[in-house]
Amino acid sequence: MKTHESLFERACKVIPGGVNSPVRAFNGVGGTPVYVESGKGSKIRTADGRTLTDFCCSWGAMILGHANVEIVETIQKQAEKGTTFGINTEIEVVFAEKLCSLVPCLERVRLVSSGTEAVMTALRIARAVTGRKRIIKFDGCYHGHSDSVLVSAGSGLLTGGTLTSPGIPRHVASDTYVVPYNDLKAVNELIREKGQEIAAIIVEPVAANMGLVMPDPGFLAKLRHYADRCGALLIFDEVINGFRFNLSSYASIAEVKPDLMTLGKIIGGGLPLAAVGGAAVFMDELAPRGKIYQAGTLSGNPLAVAAGLKTIEILERDDPYPRLEQLGRRLAETINTAAASKGLPCRCAQYGGVFTVFFTGQPVRNLADAKKCDTQAYAQHFHTLLNRGYYLPPSQFEVGFISTAHSEEDVAAFAQAVVK
Ligand SMILES: *Cc1c(COP(=O)(O)O)cnc(C)c1O
Repeated sequence: MKTHESLFERACKVIPGGVNSPVRAFNGVGGTPVYVESGKGSKIRTADGRTLTDFCCSWGAMILGHANVEIVETIQKQAEKGTTFGINTEIEVVFAEKLCSLVPCLERVRLVSSGTEAVMTALRIARAVTGRKRIIKFDGCYHGHSDSVLVSAGSGLLTGGTLTSPGIPRHVASDTYVVPYNDLKAVNELIREKGQEIAAIIVEPVAANMGLVMPDPGFLAKLRHYADRCGALLIFDEVINGFRFNLSSYASIAEVKPDLMTLGKIIGGGLPLAAVGGAAVFMDELAPRGKIYQAGTLSGNPLAVAAGLKTIEILERDDPYPRLEQLGRRLAETINTAAASKGLPCRCAQYGGVFTVFFTGQPVRNLADAKKCDTQAYAQHFHTLLNRGYYLPPSQFEVGFISTAHSEEDVAAFAQAVVK
């Protein structure tokens, strides 16, 4: 048996920081990162031989749980027929037809391999078709790691944001305005002053990268209104939201139609696959029809597409959404009832199968609220639950996910472990 300490020590000698994506290093909670050997359903088996109930689910990608029999079989069958050709395949047409039929704002969709790429392309389209360079994003919403969106709120609304990583040209920050989530007054002010320069307003409809934060009623509809007023495109980044709460997008729940949408995570069925799509009038500006360049060696490869298509077919057949909502609600109720009666310093935010235990007594409506959380208390909560056999996202500012493979017992036992 291998210890996680020894694996991490080896990793640090050959992988920067020992990890291939920063949050996995456990900087948000301390301690040695976990290594996984295998997964099945709601459980993962660690390299040091423990079995954990997984509430991270590869950041939500594994909505059917790990190693779902039908998905595994689909991947095996496709692998035998070839994994990538760099030539068109029928299955990518079927998949695009499926996405366009289920998501109302999609008339065209282009497949890529990561959410980061999808957002990068959406922003390029917005800039190209408007001939403008500036964008509005919301503090605490995550849109992948491309230059324009690695920007956080700066000193003043109209001065643009602050770069959150070295290596990004300084001017990028001044082209990205960062506004508090749910703050329509700030958006209105920006549009009034700078509306003619704005190419796009980009938002996670349900924010799930500062912990779970719901949009206020009317927030998204008002963004649609502001985008129309100044001639900017409205982009919904539904990389987490898409196919999470229903067999479509949060746009359809909010009844707001964005010009462009990005999808990822769930739609790849556990393989690297994401998409950017929207109105034909914008999407057809992409090369080869239009002049906006975008490409990818593995884009739409049949292996990832087969896994993604099968995932959506299963979601369509089984309609797990009412059950996920029920499990999520019961989890939140158990935690919040106990928190109120025992005076625990936390509150569980929940929507569908997504949740965050916020260590603050106050409601969380934006990043500033989320930052008031006691992150030390979260770290302790994380490690206590890890010891009790539960894997949570290793940061206060992420969300937990319930998959269709989680049993009522999994969720009930977890809720009890949280409030014990
Ligand atoms: C995960 C995520 C991304 C980035 O997707 P990757 O596949 O990790 O590049 C973009 N937007 C949102 C909302 C996400 O949650």
